[in-house]
Amino acid sequence: MTITSDSVVTLHYTVSTEDGTTLDSSEGKEPLVVLLGQRFLIEGLEDALIGKDKDDSFNVSIEPEKAYGERVDELVQTVPRSMFEGTEVEVGMSFRATTPQGEQSVIIIETNDEEVVVDGNHPLAGIPLTFDVNVVDIREATEQEREHGHVHGPEGCGHDH
Ligand SMILES: [Zn+2]
Repeated sequence: MTITSDSVVTLHYTVSTEDGTTLDSSEGKEPLVVLLGQRFLIEGLEDALIGKDKDDSFNVSIEPEKAYGERVDELVQTVPRSMFEGTEVEVGMSFRATTPQGEQSVIIIETNDEEVVVDGNHPLAGIPLTFDVNVVDIREATEQEREHGHVHGPEGCGHDH
């Protein structure tokens, strides 16, 4: 069988930037098992998997719009340091914040005595990604998996529904 938009796919992957820096890889670990059609994977990778067979290996370059999106300048905000009263602030720290776009994860990218600059963009926004993928296994999703929208292991669901 080939992969369709509601297959359960077991795959090994390595994701890197255009200059060859590896960002993440399943090599040496358990392969990723994922139900397609649920936005667990970025759009470009899901598109590339459709129609592939078991044991296929392929390489795909994905533009930001089909990965983590373009960077949005408005998500970079400068806030008074007094907002962090009593909390240590350090570049690289991330936390949940309420923004005009709703609750999201932001990261501190700059600080000085008066101000803190936070960035709500996904760390991989604006970055083209390359995936090396090996399709280890493919099966059809069960009816229950499709209802729940996620993969079930040998023990069944493991979530409360
Ligand atoms: Zn479930």
